Amino acid sequence: MQSLRFTALEGLSGVDLKIKPEQLNGTKITEVFGSNVFAGKVVRENLSDEAYKSLMNSIKSGTKIDRKMSEQIASGLKQWAMKKGVTHYTHWFQPLTGTTAEKHDSFFTLKGDGSALETFDGDALVQQEPDASSFPNGGLRATFEARGYTAWDPSSPPFILEQGQGKTLCIPTIFVAYTGESLDYKAPLLKALSAIDKAAVDVCNYFDKNVTKVTATLGWEQEYFLVDESLANARPDLVMCGRTVVGHAPSKGQQLEDHYFGSIPERAYAFMRDFEMESYKLGIPLRTRHNEVAPSQFECAPIFEEVNIAVDHNSLLMDVMTKVGKRHKLRVLLHEKPFAGVNGSGKHNNWSLATDTGVNLLAPGKTPKTNLMFLTFFVNTIKAVHDYADLLRASIASPSNDFRLGANEAPPAIISVFSGKYLYDVLQEVKTRVNNKFDEQDEAILKLDLHRHIPELMLDNTDRNRTSPFAFTGNKFEFRAVGSSANCASAMTVLNTIVAKTLATFKVEVDALIEKGEKKEIAIMQTLRKYIVDSEKVLFEGDGYSEEWEKEAEKRGLANVKTTPKALDAYVTEKSTKLFTEVGIYNEKELHARHEILLEDYVKKVQIEARVIGDLATNTILPSAITYLNTLITNINGLKGIGLGDSAVKAQTQIASKIAEHINVISENVQAMIEARKVANKVTDSRQKAIDYCDKIKPYFDVIRYHADKLEFLVDDKQWSLPKYRELLFLR
Ligand code: ADP
Ligand code: MG
Repeated sequence: MQSLRFTALEGLSGVDLKIKPEQLNGTKITEVFGSNVFAGKVVRENLSDEAYKSLMNSIKSGTKIDRKMSEQIASGLKQWAMKKGVTHYTHWFQPLTGTTAEKHDSFFTLKGDGSALETFDGDALVQQEPDASSFPNGGLRATFEARGYTAWDPSSPPFILEQGQGKTLCIPTIFVAYTGESLDYKAPLLKALSAIDKAAVDVCNYFDKNVTKVTATLGWEQEYFLVDESLANARPDLVMCGRTVVGHAPSKGQQLEDHYFGSIPERAYAFMRDFEMESYKLGIPLRTRHNEVAPSQFECAPIFEEVNIAVDHNSLLMDVMTKVGKRHKLRVLLHEKPFAGVNGSGKHNNWSLATDTGVNLLAPGKTPKTNLMFLTFFVNTIKAVHDYADLLRASIASPSNDFRLGANEAPPAIISVFSGKYLYDVLQEVKTRVNNKFDEQDEAILKLDLHRHIPELMLDNTDRNRTSPFAFTGNKFEFRAVGSSANCASAMTVLNTIVAKTLATFKVEVDALIEKGEKKEIAIMQTLRKYIVDSEKVLFEGDGYSEEWEKEAEKRGLANVKTTPKALDAYVTEKSTKLFTEVGIYNEKELHARHEILLEDYVKKVQIEARVIGDLATNTILPSAITYLNTLITNINGLKGIGLGDSAVKAQTQIASKIAEHINVISENVQAMIEARKVANKVTDSRQKAIDYCDKIKPYFDVIRYHADKLEFLVDDKQWSLPKYRELLFLR
């Protein structure tokens, strides 16, 4: 029987590259944008004045919506949804498994007399018990008492998800244990956002009393790979792990850089337009699309939004892309490192703070006063990153991101900040000119004229930060170490929490100086100076991929934690516990539960990969190699049979002996890996178990892969059943 690989390859030329999504015939984006979202005009139209006001208040200031109002909102929501052909609804949430969860219920119900009725009441809107006992809970919720519940998040608008002809009303919710502990990404994120709002408003008020709300903003850049579906289906590793665990490097990789600058391939283009249109309906403001560095790698990015909405939109987008990909017979790979030897995928998180007076707090201002405000937020962010670098590292830790961080193509596992030369010099100047005796005469330095240097600043900060995990890019910070498959909430919760904490401390310190009789601006400058001195070792402008930086960072005392099990320690240190409990994000129990969940997730994922590698090696790779080896042996014997000597069979004997050797090494290592797993599985401490999986099992992956890839190179191409890198990456 022909292998799946060849069936897939034959099928490829038959793929209709000109698939035109039906809904694209001249539709303007503005016509469909947000059409499946319960926001803006439709909310007004479907709610009474009273209900509308109550909902808007809740969105603006987090006030509770009472029972009566939630009944009215539910009824308006149902009215809108049913007009649009919706039959079912679901609470939509983001459990710690990294995907989104839905459990659909029908509007349809039966009355006592047996007649049918469509209902959706306030209770159904506000709270549900999804009975989701199998979501990870880190011991918070024993499985037998499967009572976690989802609760409506009014700040993220309900939306209609279309799948084929089906339409489901999705209500964004948080997911908590019945005892109140959070079990998802959203609940802690909302707390962090409210903490940064408060802390930033307090500090803003030094400069502008009119500011009453500060919103954290996020613009993510989603990278991904596209692979033909039938080729992907012939790769059990792609199917099971989302990455290739073996595969010989193709003759051509990304060295020509022809993909990055090239035009978007037609098949990918059709897919993009299709998922973009679906995204527009859902109110996801996608703006850019382009090829990325590696072959078959692409990126899309929206216009930035308030963090909570942006996080929901990214989670939703990953789901939409995957589904739309199926329509185009494409597999969307969101994994951080689907292919060895070419670039992996990240998800840069562009982050800033915006006031309700319309000011971006991380953009240099137009006057000395606004510049001092900018400098305050800029320096406080750097201080936060410096003080809690370990937590930021933990927030992006995952088994898949481990393949990317520190692989000399992505930001290293060392957390540092790129400020750009111009601002670096400004910080140095503040440091040297502001001192304890700093007084009125030195106030000239307060007249920061950053605004006149914006062109320099932009030039400085848009081009030269590629290798930094946390770069200032002119009017925002870009957290570049976030992985492509991650839920942005993890990074955003930590970032907003640490900046909130730093700002709150800053205010206490500045107030103390003011109380002592210091002038406000001088108190601010002196505190900023102290922060610059305290945190300058985290500033780095050079090449983050270089070996010198690793050495230099070590000298500076910066951590370089390369693997997830150890990076996660940062969540449960005394310092983090104090931080998270004080700011009110997690209590100690929640922190430990989360730590536990992440460790378990690590073990499970590495375990699955180990099994896939073992299976592939044993029942796919070795049989191909043995078949070819038999051909060689028959041939060698045949040649000898007609009287030819050793020299005639020299090359074939050498190849045969190499193949036999690789087969042996693979087979031995697969066995040894299985034994090592048995040992690791007996470890009861979950941290130790994760470390063992990392240090004692993962190393087998590289050995097995090395020899498997040698075999791929040696064995007759026709007998190799796994699609090769050149096919996965270059055929479309
Ligand atoms: P890049 O050169 O990295 O592609 P862009 O300027 O295109 O940079 O921006 C990338 C992302 O940053 C976009 O999603 C954009 O909306 C977002 N962004 C721009 N300004 C802000 C901001 N103030 N806050 C958060 N994100 C922002
Ligand atoms: Mg960017």
